[in-house]
Amino acid sequence: MMNGDVLFNVTDLSRREFLRGSATALCSTSLLTQISAQDNIAQPAQALERVKFQTDKNERTEEGRVLIEAQDGGIIFEGRDSRLWTILPENLVERQSVDGMKFVPYSARQLGDRMKLEFGTGYACWEYGPLVICTNAGKNYADWCGELFSRLQSSFEKFWRRDNLPLKEPEFLLPVCLFANRRQFAEYALADADASTAASYGYYSVKTNRTAMFDITADESGAARSIADVNRRMAKSLSNVATMVHEATHQFAFNGGLHQRYADNPLWLMEGMAMFFEVPDLKNKSGWASVGQPNKMRVAVFADWFKSGQRAENSLKTLIQDDTRFLDADTAGAAYAEAWSLTYYLIKRRREEYTVYLKHVAEKPILKYLTPAERILEFEKFFGEDWAQLDDEMVTLLKRIRR
Ligand SMILES: [Zn+2]
Repeated sequence: MMNGDVLFNVTDLSRREFLRGSATALCSTSLLTQISAQDNIAQPAQALERVKFQTDKNERTEEGRVLIEAQDGGIIFEGRDSRLWTILPENLVERQSVDGMKFVPYSARQLGDRMKLEFGTGYACWEYGPLVICTNAGKNYADWCGELFSRLQSSFEKFWRRDNLPLKEPEFLLPVCLFANRRQFAEYALADADASTAASYGYYSVKTNRTAMFDITADESGAARSIADVNRRMAKSLSNVATMVHEATHQFAFNGGLHQRYADNPLWLMEGMAMFFEVPDLKNKSGWASVGQPNKMRVAVFADWFKSGQRAENSLKTLIQDDTRFLDADTAGAAYAEAWSLTYYLIKRRREEYTVYLKHVAEKPILKYLTPAERILEFEKFFGEDWAQLDDEMVTLLKRIRR
């Protein structure tokens, strides 16, 4: 690190770009290039700029705003569709301000048109509350997902609103890509992320700000014929619906002001929150009755792991200090279960401290990542230093949950 500069590594960023609920490892495929960025700016530039730059595949032009400008001329650029571009100086072809124009996110129509152009024929886009769903899976499926996600979003907001958190209306319309089948989803995910993401049931990308998933109800007889048909098929596939809900929760948390993209958001916190909401509530017409209920799937994983004697005494510390346990396929399942357990305990028993901590994380600057020791100190500042007591209380609470 040099004085006043934040050195960041594109590889490091890519590790933080894909979030999903599966227990497979996250791996990074990016270049080992380092660029140096000037110290963080509090507010992104509000002027509209047009940049021409080189990507792996082609030269492209985007309209948007500069979030970070490096001393060497590299930039982090936010497009009007909310996608983030990390542009190294050697790839930047041209940068110009668009005279007197202010940055404005795309309208639903503009965002939809862009996605249709990207995906090609057969895709249609519809707006549902804060979301724009672009799909080739048909209107019935889009309507069903649009209703589910809109209901989730209002319950999510309602849940945090009473804690005086800095929640905000999403600045951007939230893009959702719904593919008609697994193969199309996998092709997209492979190009956008990596092979293990392509093997999942869906993901939220910090980079594109999109959730991507596929029609999990499509079978040999084709797409569902009506909303009732979608409902019937979904009820048989609840763990996959949970993945969809989980990814949508990440998107709401990032766009509702609880996390900041490219900031030091601990994985245990982000994943714990997504798992706190992920249990689907398909019966309710307006609310989301399962929020705050024990997540049976995670409880079971935690209990089995606990019984197996593999849980280390300093487990909570290693969960919090960095993201390693989430990134290794062998340890990820237990790490997710423990992150849910900790989140459940903190919200149920120490909600006030949890809320103050959430607020602190929400306000973190981008591109400043803490070391493991700093992560521990940060946690202790909000929850105290008695790790043994914390562990004990959490485990006691979990043992009371009926399985
Ligand atoms: Zn996740």
